[in-house]
Amino acid sequence: MTKRVVLIGHPVAHSLSGAMQQAAFDHLGIDARYELWDRGPAELAEAIAELRTEEFLGANITIPHKERVVTHVDRQTDEAHITGAVNTLTKEGRKLVGHNTDVAGFKIALDKLVGKQKMPRNAVVLGAGGGSRAVVYGLIREGFQRIVVFNRHLHRAEGMVKYFARSSSHMDLRAMPWHESIIEAELAKTRVLVNATSIGLNEDESPIPAEILTPDLLVLDLIYAHTRLLRDARAAGCTTADGELMLLNQGAASFTLWTGQPAPIEVMHAALAEARARGITSAEGEPALAEPALAEPAGA
Ligand code: NDP
Repeated sequence: MTKRVVLIGHPVAHSLSGAMQQAAFDHLGIDARYELWDRGPAELAEAIAELRTEEFLGANITIPHKERVVTHVDRQTDEAHITGAVNTLTKEGRKLVGHNTDVAGFKIALDKLVGKQKMPRNAVVLGAGGGSRAVVYGLIREGFQRIVVFNRHLHRAEGMVKYFARSSSHMDLRAMPWHESIIEAELAKTRVLVNATSIGLNEDESPIPAEILTPDLLVLDLIYAHTRLLRDARAAGCTTADGELMLLNQGAASFTLWTGQPAPIEVMHAALAEARARGITSAEGEPALAEPALAEPAGA
């Protein structure tokens, strides 16, 4: 029986995960099909229930469901529990296990961004959704001493800070209202800026004005594209990286969880590049209008 793995999100049309995961299944001769399920919040419970039948190996969960799905699983791994967000489901019989492979993906992206420099201790994070939770947890685990989270709806950032109270008790994690002047003041005190909002995913917009970017910033946009933010940041002399490495490595970790086999990461990387070249856009972070961008210093 051909096994099925699905990506559940809204929207998911033409996801890059499809190309990447199918290439990995095919390369290793695994009889499995990766499907894209566009399901809004009202349809989530039914979609998750369907996964309990034998034909499904598991699923990926993407925007906007990573937090909501937590209540639908039978068991969570430590990382899913500690972040309060799930991006991968595996099966134990009919039971569903929630994992968070974004945390591992983010770690690899952060290490590449920082390069040989000393790991900074201060960060500003824009956004407080499911992706942001993996970022904030990754930064806490990395030893950051001050993390400021800005979100359009402040209460969501406050909720996240509260959720992380225990893991962040040794450091300064705080939510602040989304005002340009406050973001500017915080950026002046920080080295790392992460965009974990979806601003820039579907339109050529940046979450913040170019003028407040300073050259010493290391800027990571979770969106897999040469977004307006990344273009502004490079023009300002910042070191930048897009979401490609995180996407690739969270996907590789998910693949191993479903199949028990090491992921053919080069094959997955090539499939991502090819899908991009064909103009495929992604729910995980690639808008149709932008050029690809890999981690590299300004001016490189
Ligand atoms: P969620 O839906 O959980 O969160 C979306 C976030 O974006 C919230 O903070 C939301 O703010 C903010 N936002 C959305 N639209 C606007 C707007 N118009 N103005 C201000 N804020 C806005 O999504 P995820 O956290 O799962 O994903 C967020 C982004 O990160 C997406 O672009 C996704 O593609 C990318 N991502 C990439 C990954 C990778 O592997 N490269 C992994 C995970 C995510 P509010 O709460 O106020 O609505």
